[in-house]
Amino acid sequence: MDLASNPLAPAGTDPAAAWRHPMPVAADRDAAYLSLRNVRKVYQTRSGDVEAVGMANLDIAAGEFVSILGPSGCGKSTLLSMVGGLESVTEGEIWIEGARVTGPRRDFGYIFQDPTLLPWKSVLDNVLFPIRTQKRPVADYEGEAHRLLERVGLGEFKAKRPRELSGGMRQRVALCRGLINDPRLMLMDEPFSALDAISRDDMNLALVRLWDSYHKTALFVTHSIREAVFLADRVLVMTARPSRIVADLRLPFARPRDVTVQDSPEFNRICAWLRDQIQAGYGRAAQPAGG
Ligand code: ADP
Ligand code: MG
Repeated sequence: MDLASNPLAPAGTDPAAAWRHPMPVAADRDAAYLSLRNVRKVYQTRSGDVEAVGMANLDIAAGEFVSILGPSGCGKSTLLSMVGGLESVTEGEIWIEGARVTGPRRDFGYIFQDPTLLPWKSVLDNVLFPIRTQKRPVADYEGEAHRLLERVGLGEFKAKRPRELSGGMRQRVALCRGLINDPRLMLMDEPFSALDAISRDDMNLALVRLWDSYHKTALFVTHSIREAVFLADRVLVMTARPSRIVADLRLPFARPRDVTVQDSPEFNRICAWLRDQIQAGYGRAAQPAGG
């Protein structure tokens, strides 16, 4: 990494300071909430092997919101699926709270680009659906379902069917469904990419507001640099395949966060810098780790 170009380093300070992980990689993994150690993923396909993730090393503290940026096809979804236990690792290890990830867990929430709501169920019942499938007592979660729906502005729509909602509203329902069982970790894979620009801004604000009170650990994949920076405590940049993590930037913006942060010169300087990192990443794939 070219630490000298770190956008957060004021003149005369240690240019690497803002880069440092909350805990260095190779520290005691029990100290991190989530740890990836030398994680690699190779898909075997009929036309040969596809090395999706070249090598990923990462430590994430509990409560951190981490955005992941990188070119299309670089392995972002693969990385998220491995963390979520939905996809096996070819090499390396993923640890959460000191335990190896070996499969999907109840204490994870997942949100994907397609909200995949059940069309015949009401908004409220869609939010409560994971509780039913996990055979938990639904009555214990109804209050929380109402609270979540009100928080994201769907208080009036609880009895509606998904087809009566806009795309943005459907994705809000999916967000509430992902949060209903109070997950420790939220995995979000381009959840707002299919929305129009205005709905997307609304969703970003709804999510940032939720995070002011929910404090969950989150991995959020997006193509939008501004979205990544607005939502996160930390932004990672992955290179083209076989991907590596080439930038890991801790953001200086306080919470609760307001839309006006996006107008600040610092916000825009960081976005421009991340854009450069992503572009550089297209040509960096074959270089060794940290190159
Ligand atoms: P991203 O989310 O960054 O766009 P993906 O993780 O979806 O990237 O894919 C990374 C690479 O792995 C791509 O080349 C893709 O074609 C390949 N890939 C993803 N899933 C599979 C799969 N199940 N089988 C084979 N190849 C896959
Ligand atoms: Mg993807």
